[in-house]
Amino acid sequence: MSAGKGLYSMVADHGFITTSVFELFKVGPGPSSSHTIAPMLAGLDFRRLMDALPEEKKRADACLEVQLYGSLSAAFTGHGTDKAILTGLLGYTPENCPPNLPSGVLGLPEQDLRLPFGSQGPLSPKIFVHGPVEHQYPYSNTLIFVLRDAGGQALRRVYYSVGGGFLQWEGWTPPERGKQPHPFSTARELQAHVIKSGLSIPQIILQNEKALTGQNTAAIHEKLDSIIEAMRRSVARGVSTEGALPGTLNVYRKAARLARKADALDDPINRFLGLLNAYAFAVSEENAAGGVIVTAPTCGAAGVLPSMCTMLEGYFGMGQEALRAGMLTAAAIGFLAKHNASIAGAEVGCQGEVGVASAMAAAMLAQVRGYDSVIVENAAEIALEHHLGLTCDPVGGYVQIPCIERNAMGALKAYNACLVAMMEDVPRHRVNLDMALKAMAETGRDMLSKYRETSRGGLAVCMAEC
Ligand code: SF4
Repeated sequence: MSAGKGLYSMVADHGFITTSVFELFKVGPGPSSSHTIAPMLAGLDFRRLMDALPEEKKRADACLEVQLYGSLSAAFTGHGTDKAILTGLLGYTPENCPPNLPSGVLGLPEQDLRLPFGSQGPLSPKIFVHGPVEHQYPYSNTLIFVLRDAGGQALRRVYYSVGGGFLQWEGWTPPERGKQPHPFSTARELQAHVIKSGLSIPQIILQNEKALTGQNTAAIHEKLDSIIEAMRRSVARGVSTEGALPGTLNVYRKAARLARKADALDDPINRFLGLLNAYAFAVSEENAAGGVIVTAPTCGAAGVLPSMCTMLEGYFGMGQEALRAGMLTAAAIGFLAKHNASIAGAEVGCQGEVGVASAMAAAMLAQVRGYDSVIVENAAEIALEHHLGLTCDPVGGYVQIPCIERNAMGALKAYNACLVAMMEDVPRHRVNLDMALKAMAETGRDMLSKYRETSRGGLAVCMAEC
């Protein structure tokens, strides 16, 4: 294995957006992109660094320690961070690890849990050291991997899990990318490209993706189709699985019952809304169970976009081409949020996760239903605006309460945001997406750490106390 440049990485916080659609939409195991996917990638990257050491540095007395800071330290076991890191250290990626491996990694035979050298024996939770929630590192979710031997520190890397499964590290530089024909960093700039080029938002994102990654249209469509198919599969698994979710909260899956009940309704409005709810529950419950989902933009918010996708396909009869356009439009909104604010609950609370997912779904719906780019942006803005200030307070550190229901609320809000955007007098729309994103970033900056994925405030505390 070679060292890990080219793993999922985040754009720099300046200049134009250079994130690929497939860095935003990733297939992998839940329940939290910041706490499982990025830490798994950190484990994988460090394993590659270990493998790349010169033979004389692969000493038998070497011992690995992984320090965790921020919400990674606070919401550690509930979010499955321990098992994700161990799975990465064994050489698995989020895409290639067997669906049940992260949750079952500690049950592997001892010989399969060994690193290629060192003195610590089979990998176990003993390698983890919990640092403080508040610290001096630039990102809340920080991990430090240290390999020590009698000679001192043989290897050390400081990683940052910056939201949505994106991983950076100390000294990280953005990957080299091709020059985009329509570079943008704000919604205003994106709209200017729409006017100048006569292209739609998804056409612009497609052209940029081709230039950034060097892939042709057919390859990008193929990848989009596999992402859409992964979403379909997560909905299908979720609506056909019942029983209790992992953990101590005694939360039972509801999606299958909600889907059955909604399907039996005669009233078309309640049936539509009931199914939209059920599909969002389905994926969120899969995520909570550590199942394979698509980050959209994160694991915690993974239920919103697939539920809208499923309704577009099953209820509105949209075909694959329309779904691809919807996904590219949703990606544009996710890029803007990530670039100008954050999509990490640990940085800005749930407004950056379910709020952004709702904005992405609203934009997708408006685009697929044929509205112009201003209405698409307005739909996204309305959906985001009415999630501003939303905290992240997962009870017990599990991505279950309030996360699962919150995805359903995000999906319904996306539908309503699109309705308002398409019916209002467009010139009288007063808030644009750039303003809402700025408000989200500033609100997130002011949010106490107890409301940013540490399970130390809000419902996480009140549910336990009452
Ligand atoms: S409350 Fe929202 S941001 Fe926090 S873990 Fe749940 S879904 Fe993610």
